[in-house]
Amino acid sequence: MSQHPLPNDLHLETLAVRLAVERSQYGENSEALYLTSGYVQPSAEVSARRFAGEEEGYTYGRSSNPTVTSFEMRLAALEGSEAALATSSGMSAVMLMLFSLLKSGDHVVYSQSMFGSTLKLIGSEFARFGVESTVVPQTDLAAWKAAIRPNTKILFAETPTNPLTEVCDIAALADMAHNAGALLAVDNCFATPILQRPMGMGADIVMHSGTKYLDGQGRVMAGALCASEKMVKEKFLPVMKNGGMVLSPFNAWVVLKGLETLDIRMRAQSANGHAMAQWLEQHPAVARVYYPGLASHPQHALSMKQMSGMGGAVLSFDVKAADPQQARTRAFHVLDSLRTLSLCTNLGDTKTLLTHPASTSHGKLSEDQRQAAGIGQGMIRLAAGLEHLDDMKADLLRGLDTL
Ligand SMILES: *Cc1c(COP(=O)(O)O)cnc(C)c1O
Repeated sequence: MSQHPLPNDLHLETLAVRLAVERSQYGENSEALYLTSGYVQPSAEVSARRFAGEEEGYTYGRSSNPTVTSFEMRLAALEGSEAALATSSGMSAVMLMLFSLLKSGDHVVYSQSMFGSTLKLIGSEFARFGVESTVVPQTDLAAWKAAIRPNTKILFAETPTNPLTEVCDIAALADMAHNAGALLAVDNCFATPILQRPMGMGADIVMHSGTKYLDGQGRVMAGALCASEKMVKEKFLPVMKNGGMVLSPFNAWVVLKGLETLDIRMRAQSANGHAMAQWLEQHPAVARVYYPGLASHPQHALSMKQMSGMGGAVLSFDVKAADPQQARTRAFHVLDSLRTLSLCTNLGDTKTLLTHPASTSHGKLSEDQRQAAGIGQGMIRLAAGLEHLDDMKADLLRGLDTL
């Protein structure tokens, strides 16, 4: 809202630490945390104009807040979008997007490998209101194309995916969507704008879970949608005002400060992820490693082109085993042998986090569905943090060398 007094030719690294609403009259150097639900209006006339949308200005916390605005400005600059709108979580961002853009009878095409709650929200919850959808294999462009119908309004992709790190071609999907008169939305949680900027590849909407790398230290829930000014103002904001999935000022402040170190964290954690992936690929107890930065990854070339030559911080690996039962026992042994790293169903933390997808994020699938999805009982996901590589390796060896 208030104009920042910065020069307009600054680099992204600079904007990530500098862009915010104007300082208050007290001259605080760290951005102020405005914990307020309402705003005192200078006059009844100004208040009336603000409520009529004829003048910018804060009115009530469900519409906007200066700390939240600072986060939105910074994220939009990093993603290269005209505007952004913050939400209370990543899933509320997905909810807001679908609610704002779809009506009964519309159709969505999305990948079968997307985040579990996204699959359920579209395939079950929105289906109850007559929104149709088709799931397609993540990497099969022909399948995406074949799924498009006259009533298709959104193609929704997530790349890389969890836990298999499958990558899809954002530019190709954007062309496909636009040729069909539809929009391309991209969940950019795993790569973040440091590795991948979907708007520049033709995406219309970028969705974020701020809970992950934007905060980066596992403290708060947050989310956001990045899009054109017109889409944010005319589609998302009205639904936000009535729906109330607003980001709290405190959480906005935490994520705002998280963005200041996003660039160095992502580069360092991606380098650690890469080193761990290469190291695990050599270990005799490991059957396979899934990581876009490895030459063995099926979309390695596309990943490097699309993700600034980095593979990201998340990788998965299968421990060797004769059958699913033994695989589960072995994966559990590796996880239960950890003493430094965390067994924790989250990612995007400076602490390295490991999970067993088959019994957690993908635990509700039948064994057959899991096999079809390629998520075996021996799979472990690792989201690399900032610990020393030797300590990370030693902690995994405790389990891997005693199978
Ligand atoms: C965590 C996550 C979400 C959901 O975000 P929340 O902040 O937990 O609601 C969506 N997509 C991906 C890829 C995620 O990792």
